[in-house]
Formats: sequence, structure tokens, C-alpha cells
Amino acid sequence: MKFGGTSVADAERLKRAARRIVAAREEGKNVVAVLSARGKTTDELVSLAQEMSDNPDPREMDMLLSTGERISCALCAMAINDLGHRAISLTGSQAGIVTDTSHTKARILDVRADRIRTALDEGLIVLVAGFQGVSTSQDVTTLGRGGSDTTAVALAAAVEADVCEIYTDVTGVFSADPRIVPDARKLDVVSFEEMLEMASSGAKVLQLRSVEYARNHGVRIHCRSSFEDAPGTFVVGEQETMEHALITAVAHSTDEARLSLVGVPDEPGAAAKIFTALADANCNVDMIIQNEPLELGRKAEVSFTVPRDDVRAAQTALQPIVAELGIDSIDTLPEMGKVSIVGAGMKSHPGVAAKVFQVLAEERINIEMISTSPIKISCVIAAAEVPTAVRALHSAFELGADGIVAEAPIGEQAR
Ligand code: ADP
Ligand code: ASP
Ligand code: MG
Repeated sequence: MKFGGTSVADAERLKRAARRIVAAREEGKNVVAVLSARGKTTDELVSLAQEMSDNPDPREMDMLLSTGERISCALCAMAINDLGHRAISLTGSQAGIVTDTSHTKARILDVRADRIRTALDEGLIVLVAGFQGVSTSQDVTTLGRGGSDTTAVALAAAVEADVCEIYTDVTGVFSADPRIVPDARKLDVVSFEEMLEMASSGAKVLQLRSVEYARNHGVRIHCRSSFEDAPGTFVVGEQETMEHALITAVAHSTDEARLSLVGVPDEPGAAAKIFTALADANCNVDMIIQNEPLELGRKAEVSFTVPRDDVRAAQTALQPIVAELGIDSIDTLPEMGKVSIVGAGMKSHPGVAAKVFQVLAEERINIEMISTSPIKISCVIAAAEVPTAVRALHSAFELGADGIVAEAPIGEQAR
């Protein structure tokens, strides 16, 4: 059972989470619960660091950020003990979560869950601080924003849990962010394939890595509300999905940045140098566009997007390459966003991309970059236009609660 930040934001909500955990225990289940930092704690810790330094040391950043979830766990353990059950809170390190050494976005390498298993055998409820682990060089690491989801899935895999329940502030995974699209529809099931595309397109209801981990280890995820009891959304294998909607969801993100390298020599190896430097700096490059010069000897332009948080790291990583290749300049557009439509059905239906572009054109929204996968179409647009774009696409593809989930031949519509 994993409880997100809003679900443990204050004493009352923490006690509610404690009661929910205890209720599961009283049904005879063994419970491992993963808690996030309360409310906006992690954001506040980030601000504290920024007050201290423009470029905080990543190792120290992790020492700081990991404290938020420890607070939640210790407090929740106190509440559970008062309810007449025995709980033990553990840090990520004590829980045996071993990661690589990439501070602030570490990857889990191994979960040594012996201590958890022993505690469960003794009848204890185990509370684990989310979003953190210990690196192979014995430093505290964190797993990237939203990382408590991944802690939960990794522990579920390690203890072979029946289900990994992600308790959050919405009732499940929706056809779009319900905060932007009021008539978004709750999905009863969603396939790993689609959830991966949604998460990588910004639907932060589940962290991308948690979905990858669940797919790779066969963990059953149930994403549901911490405030009501109704079933939420199950993330399941493709073969288990009953509905095959053409389009399942619209996902969005408003924190992208676009960097353009102007005057890149048109020679073999240039792109390799640029993107190797970015990879070495752990920058998550998303879309890439290179326009080839029309005339021989002219220079090319290479543009790509990264999360806005990675801009500084990207610029620093590229400095030596700019000098080495004689690149003219790096132009940065920091206020970009992305809208994506995701649906397994689009594999076999032509015309979806055309319709997306038509809808955005009608809203007079300029598309800066486009990328596609067999089940996703993404457009980079100005961050400020994202809500309008999301609502327009959601309504054009009739994804709302009243919408007919169309298998209709949309190829007949505007191309
Ligand atoms: P938690 O703190 O519980 O981890 P998050 O804030 O990380 O919660 O994720 C839940 C939020 O994800 C919701 O409040 C919602 O605004 C947002 N969200 C974005 N896209 C979707 C979607 N398709 N379905 C449900 N929620 C979404
Ligand atoms: N507290 C962390 C964050 O805000 C991790 C999480 O909530 O999953 O990103
Ligand atoms: Mg989250």
C-alpha cells in the first residue's frame, strides 16, 4: 500500500492512512506500506536547498530530500501503534533498496528485503520511506520526483505481494488529468503498454519507472483513491485488457524545455558527440529533431527537449562540445509543454495524427515538434497552451464520461 503526498498531508490524513493500513492487516493480510513526504514537503526542501546554493551538491540534495518520507513513516508508525497494532518504520536503506550512484535520479539495482520479511513474520506492519535507497557506495540516494511509486512496486515485487495498491488523491487513472478536464473518464483497466506511454508523456499519476518495473517484474498495480473505497484502475498485461479503445487518454506536461544547437557541422559523429555528452550528464532527452542542410557544406540545426529541471545540466554538458565542434550557439526555450494522445487502437487506424494536427490548428496552437510511437502521438507546444490543447483533444476524440469509446473509422474524418 503506497500513500502519496496529499494522502498524508496532515495529522488527520496520516491517521486515516494508518486506519486503512490497520484495516487491511485486520483482514489477515501482511502489509508493507510505503509513504511519501507530507504535502508539499519535498518542494519545500528543494527551496531550502536553493536558498543555500545555485547548484546544490547532488549527494547532499539526497540527504535532504530523503528526510521528508522518513517523517511520514515515523509519524504513521506512532498512529498505528496507538490503534493497537505494531508497526516499524524503515528508511529506504534499512528496507534494503540498493541503487546506482546517480544522485537525485537513482535507479534501483536490487531489493534485499530480508529485514522486511522478518518483520512481517513477527506480525509487524512495515512502513518504508518512499523515494529513496542506498547506493552501491553507501550513500543515500533518491529515485526522482514521484519515486515513491517505484519504491512501492519494487517492494511488491521483492515480497511477491498479491497487489501493489497506489493510494492517491484521484480515484484512478483517467482519460486525461481530471484537474484539467472535468469530464475525464476513469479507466477501469489500462495496459502496461498504454500506461508507459502515458507516464512518459507526463501523466504523473504513476511514475514512469514504477510502471516499467511493474511490467518487468509482473507486479499488479491498483491505483485508487485514499479518500474513498471504490475500486480504481488496474494496470494489467495487454492480454488482460478487455476494451480496445482507439484512443485511451490524453497526457500532458508543462515542464519541458527546448534546446537548439545552431550551426552544427554536417559530419558523421556530430550527433553522437552531442547526445553522449547529454547522456553522461544524466539528462533525459526526449524529442530530437535535426534538419539537414540543403546545400553541401552548410551547417545543420539540432533541437531536442529535456525536462526543464535538466536545462542547466544540459547546457553545462554541451559547453565542451560547442567548442570542439565549432557550434554557433545554443538557443534555449524554457517554457515548453507537450500534449500526447495514447491508444493501442491507433496502431491499426490511419488518420489519427492528421486529426490531432487539425484539432490543434483549429485552436490556433503552433506545433513546434512532433514525435510518434505505434500507440502515441506527441506534440511539443508552448506550455501556456497546454490546457486548451488537452481539452480540445479530449473532446475531439470523445474520451469523456459521456463519450462513445469509438472504434469508429476515424480515417473517414478530416485528414
Ligand atoms: P501522489 O502524491 O499521490 O503520488 P501525484 O500528484 O503524484 O499524487 O499524482 C496524482 C495526480 O496526477 C492527480 O492529482 C492528477 O492531477 C494527476 N494526473 C495527471 N494525469 C492524470 C491521469 N491521466 N489520471 C489521473 N490523474 C492524473
Ligand atoms: N516526495 C517525492 C516527490 O514529491 C516522492 C513522491 O512523492 O513520490 O517527488
Ligand atoms: Mg506521485
